Amino acid sequence: MQISRYEVIQQELAVVWDDGTESYIGLERLRRACPCATCQGETDVMGRRLRGPEVPLSSASFEASRIERIGGYALQVGWADGHSTGLYGYDLLRQLGVEPS
Ligand SMILES: [Zn+2]
Repeated sequence: MQISRYEVIQQELAVVWDDGTESYIGLERLRRACPCATCQGETDVMGRRLRGPEVPLSSASFEASRIERIGGYALQVGWADGHSTGLYGYDLLRQLGVEPS
């Protein structure tokens, strides 16, 4: 599955997939689902969850300042608060787009 196009419309990321389906993901929801190690913590070899330092979120945290396509598998979102390490794989985006917020 590939992304045909994507666009931020008001407070949502709209993604059009190449099969014609569309996903709408609220930006706040998208930020809270940021898959990077800082936001989600990492799991050690024992399966324990190591959380990184809590990232303080502000209104700028839910504003996307830029979105770039990474290869053919992910979108990288740069947030207005400077955070941009999260790579949103297409599977994650589709999942976020179908689950009710
Ligand atoms: Zn993150």
